[in-house]
Amino acid sequence: MNGVNAMPAPDCIFCKIVNGELPAEKVYEDDRIIAFKDISPKAKIHILAVPRQHITSLATLQPDNSALISHLMMQLSKIAREQGLPEGFRTVINTGPAGGQLVNHLHAHILGGSKLTVM
Ligand code: AMP
Ligand code: ZN
Repeated sequence: MNGVNAMPAPDCIFCKIVNGELPAEKVYEDDRIIAFKDISPKAKIHILAVPRQHITSLATLQPDNSALISHLMMQLSKIAREQGLPEGFRTVINTGPAGGQLVNHLHAHILGGSKLTVM
């Protein structure tokens, strides 16, 4: 852990989901990350995968977050497969206000279940 990304943020809804203070439809969890259904799905299947540790965004990553971020990335295809997306999915990570990030706790969107437009 490091000073920048070490503490739960008091008003962070994803920290509250991690701590069990807010409900979520969890589909995966381990000691470092959880994944749950997006409350306002933008695709037939829309999952959010988040580190348990409060990290604000990709823009605040510190060198000692690398193992955690690697772990998060490594689990995405497994989570997608378990959610019925064996043939592929889209991963989106919004960063900062100009990047469309609304919840300031790093999260990867997993989207799929219907044909997605080519980007
Ligand atoms: P972003 O714009 O990348 O920050 O995405 C935030 C996502 O969090 C949006 O897709 C929201 O629908 C989703 N979201 C917000 N609150 C909740 C919640 N309580 N449970 C599940 N998903 C949520
Ligand atoms: Zn948080």
